[in-house]
Amino acid sequence: MSLLAGKFAVITGAASANGLGQATARLFAEHGATVAILDLDQQASEKAAQALGNQHIGLACDVTQKSVCLQVVETLLARWGQIDILVNNAGITQPVRLLDIEPAQYDAVLDVNLRGTLYMSQAVLPHMKQRQQGAIVNMSSVSAQRGGGVFGGPHYSAAKAGVLGLTKAMARDFAADNIRANAVCPGFIATDITAGKMTDEMYSQVLNGIPMGRAGKASEVAGCCLFLASDLSAYVTGSEVDVNGGSLI
Ligand code: NAD
Repeated sequence: MSLLAGKFAVITGAASANGLGQATARLFAEHGATVAILDLDQQASEKAAQALGNQHIGLACDVTQKSVCLQVVETLLARWGQIDILVNNAGITQPVRLLDIEPAQYDAVLDVNLRGTLYMSQAVLPHMKQRQQGAIVNMSSVSAQRGGGVFGGPHYSAAKAGVLGLTKAMARDFAADNIRANAVCPGFIATDITAGKMTDEMYSQVLNGIPMGRAGKASEVAGCCLFLASDLSAYVTGSEVDVNGGSLI
């Protein structure tokens, strides 16, 4: 079944080989979408896009820079003529305790996770509004819901909670324009963001808190993004969908 045939999708932070963005890009392409992979590095973005097929595009885009976001969306619209789906996936973590967070660390984490989500959405929303259609999927985290996590940092929790609020505001403001906005809250997923950052003891502590007893896979988050980006979720907006093996039960 091709759930995204004829759709054009933009995914930020999607050049990381084992990451959620790239897994989502792969699944979207398998379902017929043409995909733009945006990430910090041009070559890595191009390489990731090429791996999906010639019709896909890889572009450098630092989501913390509003002018860059606007420019990249303009380039894509000139090439494609339309953007149907935006996945705001770019994110960074920092394992810092609350009392130790320096202003620059706070800024960096808030900038990528939250400001970037706003800037990319601001870049695509006028176009989606004009066409009276669109789906935006924002990557939040279980850290937003639980207030913390082993390695994310309290400012990461705050940024991802901000993403939830922004998602709901976006959903409310653009619902009448047939534009849906939803958030995905992954739990502990094995990717580069989590790799090598925990001792064995921390790792088994994390697994103990997951009723399903294992880390999630990037493909399992991608499946949720596919649902929220496609017409399968045509009446779903402003929601936060947990992909966490039961971590909040
Ligand atoms: P990852 O590190 O593999 O991928 C993140 C990507 O974002 C990287 O490719 C990185 O280059 C890119 N990026 C960083 N700063 C950027 C910027 N300024 N502009 C554009 N791109 C930028 O991590 P991942 O695990 O695939 O995480 C993807 C998203 O999922 C993130 O938002 C993360 O916070 C969220 N998340 C991950 C987990 C998990 O357990 N892996 C859990 C909850 C939420």
